[in-house]
Amino acid sequence: MLIGCPKEIKNNEYRVGLTPASVKAYIQHGHKVLIESGAGLGSGIGDEEYVKVGATLVETAEEVWQKSEMIVKVKEPLPQEYPLMQEGQIVYTYFHFAADEELTKACLDKKIIAMAYETVQEPNGNLPLLKPMSEVAGRMAPLMAAFYLAKSQGGLGVLPTGVPGVLPANVVVIGGGTVGSNAARIAAGFGAKVTVLDINANTLEHLGNIMPSNVFTCFSDHVTLEASITEADIVIGAVLIPGAKAPKLITRELLNKMKPGAVFVDVAIDQGGCAETSRPTTHSDPIFIEENVVHYCVANMPGAYARTSTFALNNVTIKYGLKLADLGVEQACKQDSVLMKGLNMYKGILTCPPVGAAFGLEK
Ligand code: NAD
Repeated sequence: MLIGCPKEIKNNEYRVGLTPASVKAYIQHGHKVLIESGAGLGSGIGDEEYVKVGATLVETAEEVWQKSEMIVKVKEPLPQEYPLMQEGQIVYTYFHFAADEELTKACLDKKIIAMAYETVQEPNGNLPLLKPMSEVAGRMAPLMAAFYLAKSQGGLGVLPTGVPGVLPANVVVIGGGTVGSNAARIAAGFGAKVTVLDINANTLEHLGNIMPSNVFTCFSDHVTLEASITEADIVIGAVLIPGAKAPKLITRELLNKMKPGAVFVDVAIDQGGCAETSRPTTHSDPIFIEENVVHYCVANMPGAYARTSTFALNNVTIKYGLKLADLGVEQACKQDSVLMKGLNMYKGILTCPPVGAAFGLEK
């Protein structure tokens, strides 16, 4: 199969779909790989490193998209890329369709085969291709929040670590999965008082067993959610219903009850965000203030730490990428029910029910 990797074009997105090790693996399996020149630079990977393992460099994204049977990238195709998508082409990347109707319609129109990293799912519910980016975003969230809690950034002016004689910040994490548990661990590491809310009792029990003693867990319902976030200095939104839009747990009215200057990092923004007031922001303009709460809603947080993220992502995507390339999408999905879950669209047909439900597109 001819596999292509274009340079990412999203604002401040420095990750790249393939590392040299992944390129080598595809080539060892008998495939050919095209890399757009400069695609790896943001992650500190020079063109020569790709050439050394057997990739062919091409000068333009157009050439990569036109020639490749499978595109491997990181972020969803952007409007400039819609015309480049080829009918029947496998596009193996993050899509987050449920949050983007225009993208959903464009991909259906172009009849691509959309293999979405974020919905590849193991029988126990784990999302192996989302996990490493969730680990990065989860660990970043308290660090970003700590920065924006500074008065000069519009925040409360509370140092989250506290100092002798002054209490640390009160951090509330909504959703105790991969993002939430990583966020809780880092926030706890710098000394904050952390509360994790979730609706899954097993998750709460697990967190109770493994987290440090300054992390508390609480079942999430309207009452506990309101009580927690009105007391919070930092709120981290980390909920997920796989493939679906994030539930709007924080209404404008509830946000109004938060401390003025509190920071809300809505990591779930890539699925639409878990507050009524959330809208996606970018690394070059990451925050806005609504109802006196600083909102950080960057939809591609791991892009900021591109080198770590690129290698972490490739560690997990290569296994399924090789299956798709070796067997073709039909056989690969037939043989592997985990990979099958990633199939969101097949040549103009929507195959992921939650995406259809988000836009009333069910057939
Ligand atoms: P996960 O499945 O590991 O965890 C989600 C948790 O949310 C689960 O424990 C679930 O029980 C809980 N949950 C669901 N509904 C809830 C509710 N109503 N109240 C409380 N808890 C609820 O998912 P994850 O990997 O941690 O991802 C979380 C979100 O972060 C996803 O939307 C993901 O796409 C997003 N994400 C964003 C970025 C970014 O750059 N912005 C990066 C990585 C992940």
